[in-house]
Amino acid sequence: MTGTDSNERIVSFGFEDVTESEKVARVKGVFRSVASRYDLMNDLMSAGVHRLWKHDAMNKVNPQPGERHLDVAGGTGELARAFLTLADAAGKRRGDARPATAIVCDINDAMLEAGKARADNAQWAGRLNWVCADGQKLPYPDKSFDAVTVSFGIRNFADRVAGLREFRRVLKTGGRLAVLEFSQMTVPVLQEAYDAYSFAVIPRLGELIASDRESYQYLVESIRKFPDQQTFKTEIEGAGFSQVSVTNYSGGIAALHFGWAV
Ligand code: SAM
Repeated sequence: MTGTDSNERIVSFGFEDVTESEKVARVKGVFRSVASRYDLMNDLMSAGVHRLWKHDAMNKVNPQPGERHLDVAGGTGELARAFLTLADAAGKRRGDARPATAIVCDINDAMLEAGKARADNAQWAGRLNWVCADGQKLPYPDKSFDAVTVSFGIRNFADRVAGLREFRRVLKTGGRLAVLEFSQMTVPVLQEAYDAYSFAVIPRLGELIASDRESYQYLVESIRKFPDQQTFKTEIEGAGFSQVSVTNYSGGIAALHFGWAV
């Protein structure tokens, strides 16, 4: 990342170098375009495996009754619903009826609208809230949440480190951060095969199912530009998290980084 005459940093948008503000605008365009087919495309691209990754990630977050959860770049709200489900189950086991609450925060109102339209939201009336905001500038006071999660969102941020600092700011002391993101495969030859698959198949699938090849081309390019597990772990530690652990899924196609705000 370098400076420009206008003092705007240059960041990657897939394989292109763009200004930060251009990245924000183009990422908004991508997710506005894919919103209505987003859940379906996720299932098709990963053969449903993304649900298993998310399920494991939320078990590690270990939601508890009465807790406040913020799902940043939460899109259609899958993690927020999982948080509430697991918190209620934990409460039932222990006879603790305090309701947990969750906020799905996303920069893109089209993604939030797709999530709000889901029929299974009714059971969470008053406990599941939707907020359109930038994850790098969260509209919440310091130490507001017990858990912050981000799944497949942070690689789209114009300034990832600013986002991590913001998550640290809004977490209570002892709060948990879970970031699920596409990552690097641990066996290089498998990475080559995965790259070949993703560059050949995913944009084509986007064209067929969502009539949008370009957005899915961005998706695969942005995955390749995202740092490896160790580099990202160091960034999270640098933002003020401790005991940061990494769990690889499907050989490192995705990885969960989990840390504590201390
Ligand atoms: N978390 C959801 C999931 O796992 O299904 C959605 C992931 S989707 C691939 C990425 C989401 O990140 C999009 O909904 C997009 O609008 C959102 N996003 C991108 N940049 C953002 C930012 N700076 N702040 C908040 N949300 C952002």
